[in-house]
Amino acid sequence: MVIYYCPASFIMNFLKELEDSLGKNLIIGEEEKVPYRQDASYIKGKDPIAVAIPETIEQISQTVKICQKYSVPIVVRGGGTSLTGSSVPLENFLVISMLKFDKIIEVHPEDRYVVAEAGVRLDTLNDHLLKYGLFYPPDPGSSIAATVGGSISTNAGGLRAVSYGTTKEWVLGLEVVLPNGEVISVGGKVLKRTAGYDLAALLVGSEGTLGIITRAILKVWPIPEARGRILAYYDEIGKVGQAVSSIKAQGITPEIAEFMDRITMDSLERTRGMTFQRDAKYMLIVDVASTKESIKRRLNETAEVLQKFQPLDLMVTTDPNEMAKIYEARKGAYASLLGGRGSSSERVVIGDIVVPASKLPEALREIEAKIGEYGLKVALFGHIADGNIHANIYADVDDEDFMIKVERFQIDLGKIAIKHEGSVSAEHGIGIEKKELLKLEISSQALEIMKGIKKAFDPKNIMNRGKVFD
Ligand SMILES: Cc1cc2nc3c(=O)[nH]c(=O)nc-3n(C[C@H](O)[C@H](O)[C@H](O)COP(=O)(O)OP(=O)(O)OC[C@H]3O[C@@H](n4cnc5c(N)ncnc54)[C@H](O)[C@@H]3O)c2cc1C
Repeated sequence: MVIYYCPASFIMNFLKELEDSLGKNLIIGEEEKVPYRQDASYIKGKDPIAVAIPETIEQISQTVKICQKYSVPIVVRGGGTSLTGSSVPLENFLVISMLKFDKIIEVHPEDRYVVAEAGVRLDTLNDHLLKYGLFYPPDPGSSIAATVGGSISTNAGGLRAVSYGTTKEWVLGLEVVLPNGEVISVGGKVLKRTAGYDLAALLVGSEGTLGIITRAILKVWPIPEARGRILAYYDEIGKVGQAVSSIKAQGITPEIAEFMDRITMDSLERTRGMTFQRDAKYMLIVDVASTKESIKRRLNETAEVLQKFQPLDLMVTTDPNEMAKIYEARKGAYASLLGGRGSSSERVVIGDIVVPASKLPEALREIEAKIGEYGLKVALFGHIADGNIHANIYADVDDEDFMIKVERFQIDLGKIAIKHEGSVSAEHGIGIEKKELLKLEISSQALEIMKGIKKAFDPKNIMNRGKVFD
């Protein structure tokens, strides 16, 4: 039974049962619920019926059982930094916030894993791992707010994916509350396992549609001995793509390789007081990780490749303060673009395509041509060495005609990705925003299999209903 209209008595009974189970961990006040209506995307959500902030797994299980009984849909929320609307509540949803699940339970340097609860923020996790000389590589730009559970559920990529892969490479095991309220553990603590279907892997990227992750066993890695950074400025986008492809073709795997365009550099100059080479249209940031003995040699080898594409300027640094400043600036690029909005209804809609690195020069030129064709204001940046390009479109979200144009532009970007054997969604997931784009990429047979999996986990369709697919 799907409930779109809720009579008052129904809601009162539902809330009464929740309150009995959650006590003070239930929010029902109109004003207190407001922050849960939105995530970091431009998509407008609805007021949830209530917000549950459980403290124990029993409370989560009980909450889910009550939602089953009343057929009330649930959206789980970590940091709420989704850029596709995957963590916004729709009509008559209950929000379950995981922020009280904030404990790092154990670190095992000898077996290289950490056990953390789902609500732990990624930066908190890495601060904690520092004292063991370890780190957790997935590093989305939102790591200050993004959580273990949210980043697993979106298979977050981030700045270091070119070297370490995305979140799916780092999840060993999960504890999950199923849509019927039962608790299961999948995967475990070992690096190798071939014991039936890999349900932990299936949950990665499932955007809260299959269950609630409460705890994760994550692989961790030793912090590299030495790191260095090259900044190279170019006047043409094709050169940026060629430079990155050539580095990889030479057998060099940068730890990160990011690019940003002039609009992004200008916004960082305005918001962070930074200065960049004045005539450059694009900046490339390449990090190299190595041993203390070999870092200089590795940086020189990489710089030599970048020089072949006639940069307007090129700088090399191993100064940790200088490196931290640029890294934080890149992570803050999306936020600084928001500062350049022309009106209160203007938002920055972010595209998220990926192509194989060798196809970058061609794909980037095609994207630039499309921007010109549509006459949109678009800032480009991205995790370029893994072929991930973010097109940030300034859009008045209240202007329906304009939004249709934005949607068409996004579809055209998706077609460019697919033409070059890439993907319409590199790391932000599908959520609400990219459901049409998903159909461009996935065959109808594959989509039916996905729907069958969803049904097997969640026959009443209470988990994040209406996200990923209808
Ligand atoms: C400024 C900015 C920069 C970003 N940069 C990157 C980037 O570089 N790379 C990248 O990959 N992404 C990036 N993102 C997108 C987003 O931050 C990531 O996807 C992030 O991992 C989401 O984590 P979260 O905790 O905020 O999840 P939420 O937004 O809270 O949730 C995301 C999805 O996961 C589900 N979910 C959350 N917690 C759980 C749980 N415990 N169990 C089951 N489902 C759950 C939600 O229902 C939702 O579907 C960026 C976002 C912003 C705003």
